[in-house]
Amino acid sequence: MNSPSPDPNPAPVLDGTQAPARLLEQADSLLYIDIRGAGTLGQRLLDATRDEPTLALRGQAHFHVAFSLLRTGQAERGVAHNELARASFAAHDDARGLLMCDQFDALHLQIQGRLQEALELHLRILARSAEVARRPIDLYICHNSRAITRKLLGQHDYMLLDFYEALATAKTCDSPGPHINSLTNLGGSHTDLWNLGEAQKLSEQALDLAEAAGAWSSFAVAVFNLAQIYDGLGLHERCAAMLARIGRNQDRILPGVLARNTPLMAIAHLCAGDIEGAGAWLDPGLAQTAQVEPSNRTDHARAHATYLLATGRATQAHDVVKAHLAAVASAPLQDPPYSRMRLLHVATDVCESLGDTACALRHLREAQRLYETLVDRSARAGFIATQVAHETALARDDRDRAREAQERAEVDRRRLSTLNLALEERMRESQRLNAALQHKIAEAEALQEQLREQAVRDPLTRLYNRRFLDETSLARIQLARRQGTSIAIVLIDIDHFKQINDLYGHSRGDEVLQAFARLLHERMRRSDIVCRFGGEEFVLLVDNPEPDALVDLLGKALRQFRSLRFGVGEDLIDDCTFSAGVAWLGPDGDDFESLVRVADLRMYRAKTTGRARICHADG
Ligand code: GH3
Ligand code: MG
Ligand code: MG
Repeated sequence: MNSPSPDPNPAPVLDGTQAPARLLEQADSLLYIDIRGAGTLGQRLLDATRDEPTLALRGQAHFHVAFSLLRTGQAERGVAHNELARASFAAHDDARGLLMCDQFDALHLQIQGRLQEALELHLRILARSAEVARRPIDLYICHNSRAITRKLLGQHDYMLLDFYEALATAKTCDSPGPHINSLTNLGGSHTDLWNLGEAQKLSEQALDLAEAAGAWSSFAVAVFNLAQIYDGLGLHERCAAMLARIGRNQDRILPGVLARNTPLMAIAHLCAGDIEGAGAWLDPGLAQTAQVEPSNRTDHARAHATYLLATGRATQAHDVVKAHLAAVASAPLQDPPYSRMRLLHVATDVCESLGDTACALRHLREAQRLYETLVDRSARAGFIATQVAHETALARDDRDRAREAQERAEVDRRRLSTLNLALEERMRESQRLNAALQHKIAEAEALQEQLREQAVRDPLTRLYNRRFLDETSLARIQLARRQGTSIAIVLIDIDHFKQINDLYGHSRGDEVLQAFARLLHERMRRSDIVCRFGGEEFVLLVDNPEPDALVDLLGKALRQFRSLRFGVGEDLIDDCTFSAGVAWLGPDGDDFESLVRVADLRMYRAKTTGRARICHADG
């Protein structure tokens, strides 16, 4: 398992031609999967943009390098890059970036062990998250780092709540790294709190996702958690299955990843019943190379004692336990309480197998005392997990309801827009109909007007006809009488018109009639009525006439008529004349009929006295 194998997770290939923004995206996605890779990408971007020191993207690149250095134990160089990142973000007024630099500072404080200061800074960053737009990955870093600080401060409740908040945020990140990381962290926290049921669920999920994503550091953490969990729950078969799974992935797992925690690997083998396998992990050479961390020494002592006991070396096992407990008594360890409890269980077994029941009882009592503390923590952790699950369910309900409401609103909006479209179509249709109707109405009105005109006009001369005169004369005469004004009725008859028809044809006669009509129309005022009374007879109704002026005007009309020429050569018609009789309202009668009668008599006199004249008075 620990023989050198080809690196299955090499540093990302960088060809320098990749767009800087793409490089940064890739670096983001490597956070929590391959932190060194993320830093390498950041450095690559810095190298590629060396000639453009003011480029905005360089801030984020510096941040990636800084974060990677800090998390791989090179804090000083990390701080320098973080300051460069801060300067770049400040120059570009990038509030989000500046907050990330503070995030770096908080992590740095935590690494230095200045936990209270770290927590205060974390809380200030969290408070500002509301006012600065942050990406899911930024928020994940914020919640996760805060949770770890809480863990180190022993604030178990807050730690769990913050880790759960990190988990919720992780699910919104583009890359799987944060999700895997939050599951391993939460799994580890529940393991620490001896809430093994919850820890198992979370760590198994983490193991699956880490394997699928090739996130082997997280894979190893999940394995270590599960070794404790399976051992604590006595799930020997599951532990054996997990070891088989590690065997299947042997070529893919980076060498040394599992060796970082040899005691837990040994515990996993012991739990699976593989005593020999456990022995391999307890090999002092290997343990020395991997340098068992102080916090893992209790696990190491337990694994070692268990192994020795299982191989029939109870006395040696006893020595191991005794030595460890003596060391712990003189220099207390920051080891998890359950590790100690499990060691005390082994110590009990060892003492029992050596027949020292008093010693066994002492260890058992001590283990029992730790167990009670752990049960208390476990219950609390279980309660928080249930509470978070409940709140998540409530939030999911709220979200579902909001989504439903949104969907309903969307359906309504679509329905409304369909209705609006239909309405607009209807309105357009009605406008079209209205326009057509208006057109029809105008046509009808024009037709009516035309019909009315036709009804009151003579078609040949376009003058008013007798009907119009009959209809309007009464009103005109009444108005004149009321106003005390006068009216003259002039009856005109063209002389010898029959001869014109007979000699030159009926159409030439029509021509003469039309020319005479035009002449009258032009001479008379707009207020006068010029009417073709029938045949070659015309009647004029003259409003408020000046008698002499009217007679004079008629005389001029006669002269003008005489001067007209129709046709040419033999067909020439000239010297057309008319005879006219004038009757005056008042002296000659009070109504139209009487006036026409008098005008007719005077016109007849004009005929009989030689024609081509105007007779406007008797005698
Ligand atoms: P007098 O001087 O006595 O009035 O003689 P006259 O020939 O004008 O009178 P008469 O009543 O004998 O003839 C009128 C003629 O007018 C008869 C008719 O054929 C003609 N006439 C009537 N209406 C029209 C018309 O619309 N067109 C034409 N070309 N002739 C018409
Ligand atoms: Mg006549
Ligand atoms: Mg005539």
